Amino acid sequence: MRHILLLGGTTEASRLAALLAHADCPAIFSYAGRTVAPIAQPLPTRTGGFGGAEGLARYLRDHDIAALIDATHPFAARISGNADAACRAAGVPMLMLRRPAWAVDPDWQHVPDIGGAVAALPHAPTGVFLAIGKQTLAPFASLPHRWLLRLVDAPDAAPLPGAKVVLARGPFTVAGDRALMQAHGITHLVAKNSGGTGAAAKLQAARDLGVRVVLIDRPAAPDRPQVATPDQALDWLHQTAPWRGV
Ligand code: NAP
Repeated sequence: MRHILLLGGTTEASRLAALLAHADCPAIFSYAGRTVAPIAQPLPTRTGGFGGAEGLARYLRDHDIAALIDATHPFAARISGNADAACRAAGVPMLMLRRPAWAVDPDWQHVPDIGGAVAALPHAPTGVFLAIGKQTLAPFASLPHRWLLRLVDAPDAAPLPGAKVVLARGPFTVAGDRALMQAHGITHLVAKNSGGTGAAAKLQAARDLGVRVVLIDRPAAPDRPQVATPDQALDWLHQTAPWRGV
C-alpha cells in the first residue's frame, strides 16, 4: 500500500499525525532522533536521518511514498532542502506545513542569523535568555554573559561557559516565562522566529518586563506549496494523494 511520509518534530506535525490516524490514512511518521523521549505518535514511527537527499530519495522509492509532508521546524533548513531535492528526484509531491512567522515588531531587533544575534548583544556582562535550542550555542561563547538555556534534555557536557540550564518542554505560559526571566535577572532574550503560541509566551513576558528581544529570522524555505494548519494539510492530501477514493 502507498504511504504518506510525515517529517515531524513540531506541535503541528503531532496534530497532523492525530488527524491522519483518525482518518485511517496509511502514513509513516519520521523523527530526527534529537530528543531522548520524543512524544509517542499514533502512526508507525521511524527515527534517525535518511542519509542526505540521496538517502531520502531512496527511502521514498523503497517505501512507495505517495506524498511527503514536511512539518519540521522552520529552522530545520537542511532536512527541508533534502526533502525538496529527494521529492524532485523521486517524483513525489511535497507540502510544507509551517506555522506563520511572528510579524515584525519595532520593539524587537530582527537579525538574519545566529551571527547577527551574537553581534546584537551588549559587550558588558548581563543576563541573557538564549531560547534557541542546543545546536547553535558555540558562537555565543565569545561573550561574557550569564546565559540561561532552556532545553528538552540534559546536555552531556556544559553547553556554554557561564550557562544555567533549565529543563522543560513547551508549550510555555506568559506567567511562567515572566517568573523564569525575573528569577535569573534576564535583560536580553534571543529567540528564533518560530511562530506559534506556546513559543510566543517568552516574547510577551519579555515585553512585560522590558527585556530587550533579539529575534532571528527564518532561513529560506523550499519553493513548495505551503499551509499553516494540520487541517489544511489534510485537505491538500485529499486532493493530491487520496487514499480512499475521495
Ligand atoms: P536539520 O539541521 O534541518 O537536519 C539535520 C539532519 O537531521 C538532516 O539532514 C536529517 O539527516 C536529519 N533530520 C532532521 N529532521 C528529520 C526528520 N524529521 N526525520 C528524519 N531525519 C531528520 O534539522 P535540525 O535543526 O537538526 O532539527 C532536527 C529535528 O528537530 C527536526 O525534525 C526539527 O523539526 C526538530 N526541531 C528543530 C528545531 C530547530 O530550531 N532547528 C526546533 C525544534 C524542533 P539526514 O541528512 O541523514 O537525512
